[in-house]
Amino acid sequence: MNVELICVGTELLLGNILNTNAKYISEKCAELGLSMFYQTVVGDNPDRLKDCILTALGRSDCIITSGGLGPTNDDLTKEIITEALGLKLVEDKETVDRLYYFFNKISRPGQSMTPNNLKQAMVPEGCTVLTNKNGTAPGILIEKDGKTVIMLPGPPRELVPLFEEYCIPYFLKKSNETIYSVMVKLVGIGESEAAARIDDILNNSTNPTVAPYAKTAEVHLRITAKAHDEEQAKAMIEPVFERIKDVLGPYIYSTDEEETLEDAIIHLLNEKGLTITTAESCTGGLLAGRLINVSGASDVYKEGFVTYSNEAKAKRLGVSKDTLDTFGAVSEECAAEMARGAAMAAGTDIGVSTTGIAGPLGGTPEKPVGLVYIGIYYNGGTKVIKTNVPRGRQEIRERTVVRALDLIRTTVLQY
Ligand code: AMP
Ligand code: MG
Repeated sequence: MNVELICVGTELLLGNILNTNAKYISEKCAELGLSMFYQTVVGDNPDRLKDCILTALGRSDCIITSGGLGPTNDDLTKEIITEALGLKLVEDKETVDRLYYFFNKISRPGQSMTPNNLKQAMVPEGCTVLTNKNGTAPGILIEKDGKTVIMLPGPPRELVPLFEEYCIPYFLKKSNETIYSVMVKLVGIGESEAAARIDDILNNSTNPTVAPYAKTAEVHLRITAKAHDEEQAKAMIEPVFERIKDVLGPYIYSTDEEETLEDAIIHLLNEKGLTITTAESCTGGLLAGRLINVSGASDVYKEGFVTYSNEAKAKRLGVSKDTLDTFGAVSEECAAEMARGAAMAAGTDIGVSTTGIAGPLGGTPEKPVGLVYIGIYYNGGTKVIKTNVPRGRQEIRERTVVRALDLIRTTVLQY
């Protein structure tokens, strides 16, 4: 089956918004093994939209549209497609009910549903209405004369769930196949390095496919297999995963889609019965925030320190005046004393510290923006790593947090 995508919206042509729906739908169609030969962006103009629809109907098996399903007069997608298919619009009772329910729930005093909203409940006769739980305009799927047309609302937070809930199962059913994937999550290695090490796997895998995704200081690899059923797909993924594990094993922290790095770490700490605290300078609480993202973190994390000034480092963590005067706050020595001091003050097994120059001001030739020391106290001793990523302030801080989390992970694994 080949699929053609039409994104409707003048705002896309003007560059006011990024066409993220095209990226998302293209990626999903590729994963589903659907061929896509054409994509069009067209403004909210009836004649040009009709032209695009008729052209697409003439050359593709399935058309997916994004946008133009809303209540206003410039939302025309449904009307034009219905006309192009030679159909009539009829009222969908369930959507009418949903609209009243929705507007009653959110209504502000003196405001109620305006009549133009009911336009969203008009659908082509014989279609399947795709219930939109995140907005008022439903999606629509219609099959006619061997063609399928799927209309989806423009807002990504509505389009994505509709695609996942209705379109993926629809395409899988058509092709009699199942798609199953495993996400391998890595930390402590860059995307290009990871890709280089599994170059042969990346280049020579068609089913399963292996696709890398770079996250902030993390790399995720999605292994996707297409098979008759899930069992078969899993069996196909297994040897590919084993090969990846052989090469990148120490960097893998999870193969669970939902599990974050902080989840994995809190889990590890719990498993080993270890407690932890943080002493943060340049990350200013971001590291503590990541750990406390995890429900149940309180079993291993009781308190932490944000010690931004030299005075605070001395007062709260006992960093010596000597260290601060001789090496400065951004130094290996200071990071070590912060980590140890925090663990002593909080009475924990492990203490982690961050101290660095997040910029944009404050860099010197010896200590440039991006220089960060991350310290860890464990087993009665300390270890410090030095990183140097010259990026913007926020990115430096976020990357530092991931590096610190990875330092915790690799340290706890040694226990
Ligand atoms: P519409 O369904 O045409 O009324 O679109 C509503 C909103 O969805 C637009 O104002 C955009 O913010 C967003 N949107 C529409 N099309 C796209 C797209 N192709 N990619 C990302 N966002 C979109
Ligand atoms: Mg629009």
